[in-house]
Amino acid sequence: MRNTTMLEVSNVAAGYGASEVLHGLSLGVGKGGVTALLGANGAGKTTLMKTLAGLLPLQRGQLRLNGADISHRESHERVVQGMVLVPEGRMVFPSLSVRENLRLGGINPRTRARWRQNMERVYHIFPKLQQREAQAAATLSGGEQQMLAIGRGLMAEPQLMLLDEPTLGLAPLVAKQIFELVARLRNEGLTLLLSEQDVRKTLAVADYAYVIENGRVATHGPSDQLADDPRIKEAYLGR
Ligand code: ATP
Repeated sequence: MRNTTMLEVSNVAAGYGASEVLHGLSLGVGKGGVTALLGANGAGKTTLMKTLAGLLPLQRGQLRLNGADISHRESHERVVQGMVLVPEGRMVFPSLSVRENLRLGGINPRTRARWRQNMERVYHIFPKLQQREAQAAATLSGGEQQMLAIGRGLMAEPQLMLLDEPTLGLAPLVAKQIFELVARLRNEGLTLLLSEQDVRKTLAVADYAYVIENGRVATHGPSDQLADDPRIKEAYLGR
């Protein structure tokens, strides 16, 4: 496995009630890099992200974070242990201000005392959020809401950020800024698991990628190898 594995997903089955979506999926997230989850609509990426964050129960399998078994930990405990989900669709609290949204991201017992420093750091990364700190989140543009959702995640001082389809519905220029941000956070030492549909841009920023098809890992490898793989080119890169 690449360097140290931060998150180990072994043989995971999960879904919604009787409907199983993930059918024994295994993967590893290496420490200090970007690991990508690629796959078409409905492949199971969001279901996996929710299962990792503890929003959906494990039906089978095991999750280990830094070696510790977190398979049945509550979602707030996973946050305290350093794993934070930035959900698909941003899910900011629309009627709360930017500042209030950020504060909520930092209320866990591990980071609560440092919320001011953490908010300063988030404002340093996203000066626009500071300019708009008193505004209701609903009044922000889609790109700004995504930045707020990422900022809210950073307030919890994550070691591992689960970033689910952050560019969904954003204009190309804004999506480009999000990819640049992912690269920046990675360079600052954050580990990221990034779910995306833009295969080309994602492989450019990721170190390693897993292609999910029908709730299983169809193929995986270092990003540069996948980008050169004829099957990937044909199925996902439109060549
Ligand atoms: P997308 O890009 O659409 O988010 P995805 O790869 O993230 O795709 P999932 O959202 O994980 O895919 O969906 C996987 C499967 O689970 C799909 O067949 C979907 O219809 C089903 N599914 C998703 N959410 C629910 C739900 N709340 N209840 C029942 N089935 C669901």
